[in-house]
Amino acid sequence: MQKKTDALERMYRYLADKEKGYRTRALKMFPHVCGSCSREFEGKGLKELTVHHKDHDHDNNPPDGSNWELLCIYCHDNEHEKHKMKGYGAVEKSFQAGGFSAFDGLDALLSPDPKDEDND
Ligand SMILES: [Zn+2]
Ligand SMILES: [Zn+2]
Repeated sequence: MQKKTDALERMYRYLADKEKGYRTRALKMFPHVCGSCSREFEGKGLKELTVHHKDHDHDNNPPDGSNWELLCIYCHDNEHEKHKMKGYGAVEKSFQAGGFSAFDGLDALLSPDPKDEDND
């Protein structure tokens, strides 16, 4: 039993270290409510509340918490999906402007012009 507790403790310490304590700080600073779906968290449920970095830079942790947002794990997931999609926004728009369907666009992505490869 003693060993198990030690391992757990080490894991918690490792996690705390990894997060540089920003979660603890954020939870002290903000109400325990998801910033997106407004769900409230307390007790055991609190572990579903996570710290999102607004600029997606986990090393940017200003002491005033201006880069943090508390999000539940579901909304946090959503937020990152949206962020990933943003990168493709420009490509999507150019396809739309050209009047191509989404599948035409996909086709172009999957079969790059061999001439381009030579230039690499
Ligand atoms: Zn939420
Ligand atoms: Zn995040």
